[in-house]
This record gives sequence, structure tokens and C-alpha cells, in this order.
Amino acid sequence: GVDQSVDPAEVVRDCLVLTRHQIEASGIRCSLETASRSSVHISRTELQQVVVNLILNAVHAMPGGGVLRVLTTEDGAEVVLTVQDTGTGIAPDTLARIFDPFFTTKQTQGTGLGLSISRQIVSRAGGTITAYSTPGEGSRFVVRLPIEENAQ
Ligand code: ADP
Ligand code: MG
Repeated sequence: GVDQSVDPAEVVRDCLVLTRHQIEASGIRCSLETASRSSVHISRTELQQVVVNLILNAVHAMPGGGVLRVLTTEDGAEVVLTVQDTGTGIAPDTLARIFDPFFTTKQTQGTGLGLSISRQIVSRAGGTITAYSTPGEGSRFVVRLPIEENAQ
């Protein structure tokens, strides 16, 4: 994709519209907070791909419902995008492998490429993606992207 000036707050809103049916079908309650104002330099469609994958992973981790929290904030020179769920959580030995290409725990619909590709996209934009999880309580994925310089 072509890099451009992208507002992550706008992207997360778009991604929640795109995934709304899956979220509602699982009886998941969703909270969105967009407290970032800055833009980042990235391909919009690639950032959408990252956020949609994080949201759908969260939905898959909450088959019996739960709470999905999506948040954008700023921390110094970075926009911080968080996708948090109250799902199954991830065991520590699994957590160490989730960014590996083709690693999946899904029986059918999983390619295991979502997080691997997401990390490539985010790191190409100069950012990082990190996972935190407590088994039985849920998971939190944090994407940090450098705020675009000379943004008007
Ligand atoms: P896929 O979704 O195709 O399995 P991903 O790369 O997106 O591939 O995710 C890899 C694996 O990481 C998943 O199969 C799952 O085991 C784990 N995972 C990712 N996100 C979550 C989450 N929010 N809660 C629990 N497990 C997760
Ligand atoms: Mg996935």
C-alpha cells in the first residue's frame, strides 16, 4: 500500500463499522475511546488490516460474549492503539509464538498469518506491536506508531 497521512482514531472507527456484525453476533459489548489527535505515516489499508485482525482475534477469543475495548491515545511522540478483550487469554508458552508466521490455534478459519503480517506492517512504519495476556481474564494488544513529523 501507499503510505499517507493517516488518523488512527478514524481508522479504528472504520474498522469497528466493518466488524460490527461479528461483534454483535457474539453478544460482545464494545467500548471505543479515541483520545489521539495526531496522524501517522502508514498505508491506510494496511493499518486497517492490522486493526481488523486484532478486533476479529478478540471476537474469536470471546465466543460467549464479553467486552471489547478499543482505545487510541498519545504517549510522547507516539500514537498508542490498544485492542483489549475479556476472552480466553493466552498461555505464556503460546504467547511467545503468536507472532510467528502460520502459528494458529484455530481449527478451521485460522491462517496464522494475521499477527505476523501485522507486525511487519507496523514495523515498516517504525512502530511496535506487543501482546499482554492473563489466561482466563483476557488479552491486550498494543500498537505504537510514531507521530508523523511536519503534520499540518
Ligand atoms: P489466526 O487468527 O489466523 O489464528 P493470528 O496471527 O491473527 O492468526 O493469531 C495467531 C494466534 O494467536 C491465534 O490463533 C490465537 O491462538 C492467538 N491469539 C491472537 N489474538 C488473541 C486474542 N485476542 N485472544 C486469545 N488468543 C489470541
Ligand atoms: Mg487472526
